[in-house]
Amino acid sequence: MAEQKPKLALYWASSCGGCEISVLAIHEKILDVAAAFDIVFWPCAMDFKEKDVEAMADGEIDVCLFNGAIRNDENAHMAHLMRRKSKVLVAYGSCAMEGCMPGLANFTDREHMMRFIYHDSPSTDNPDGVEPQIHTVVPEGELTLPAFWNTVKTLDQVVPVDYYLPGCPPEAKWTIAAVEAIISGQLPPPGSVIGMNVTVCDECNRTRSEKRIKQFYRPYEIIPDPEICLLDQGLFCAGIATRAGCGALCPQVNMGCRGCYGPNEGVVDGGAKLISALASVVDAETPEEIDAVFDTLPDPAGYFYRFNLAHSLLRRTHLVGSNGTRVAEKIEVGPQLDPKLKD
Ligand code: SF4
Repeated sequence: MAEQKPKLALYWASSCGGCEISVLAIHEKILDVAAAFDIVFWPCAMDFKEKDVEAMADGEIDVCLFNGAIRNDENAHMAHLMRRKSKVLVAYGSCAMEGCMPGLANFTDREHMMRFIYHDSPSTDNPDGVEPQIHTVVPEGELTLPAFWNTVKTLDQVVPVDYYLPGCPPEAKWTIAAVEAIISGQLPPPGSVIGMNVTVCDECNRTRSEKRIKQFYRPYEIIPDPEICLLDQGLFCAGIATRAGCGALCPQVNMGCRGCYGPNEGVVDGGAKLISALASVVDAETPEEIDAVFDTLPDPAGYFYRFNLAHSLLRRTHLVGSNGTRVAEKIEVGPQLDPKLKD
């Protein structure tokens, strides 16, 4: 009898789908993946159903690459299911690892989002004020939607994670490195980030000098010198506090790093690290001068916490109810999720 191949699953929770595409960016190496693994669940690419996974024994899947943040009870249900069925669970990409773009929703809450999207946005035409419901009875039966959470969570805030693959999306070379490590059994210690432990500045070829920033510019406001550090020229660049691994792709094309690989090893709060790094290179002395420099940086919270708000020490802004008072975090729990997972 032919030797059984290890089983691989890929799942997509709350994310844009770029991580799924990045798996295919490994090009012909996908044939190695197909040769080395039996792909048992990949809803984006193959016709497997959740019930197929349910029918497997616990731990039967050898590796699951899970991308996407956890922002509704279906995401959480699938995170628990894939954790239970998989020996190795990898948080694949920035959304699963840090919250990424979906995590920016933690600057607001469900009530405000629903109000804007279904009532107040300029393009909304909703005279009956209809909002999505978890349960809707129609003549054919009952329709259900996953309950939408107030707070976006990272994968490891919901289930234990074995490895992390950073990036929005991860670069193909690190996906290949992860696959090769899994195939060879030479995995790093559990909890490791698969990638590099230096910053994007260490991968960037631009010439750096002592930084004395007097003003930040938006990318359209200046044509930067292609040889000189973008931050030296007053363009926001998060490379100074971001984990390397992408090859400094954005600075190579005159765009500042946005920080999608997350903070470097040992940094607890990526936004705070970035604030601290930038504060040290601003050419100002008095609080008023410092304020004046940072006033030229639009949307600082969005810049500093663009990819990591959900995983930061802040996690989210305070929830304020419609009566203006702070409310406790509420998480809707759907019928399919164990009630003890409420908090
Ligand atoms: Fe670092 Fe950005 Fe300057 Fe490159 S351009 S050296 S990544 S701060």
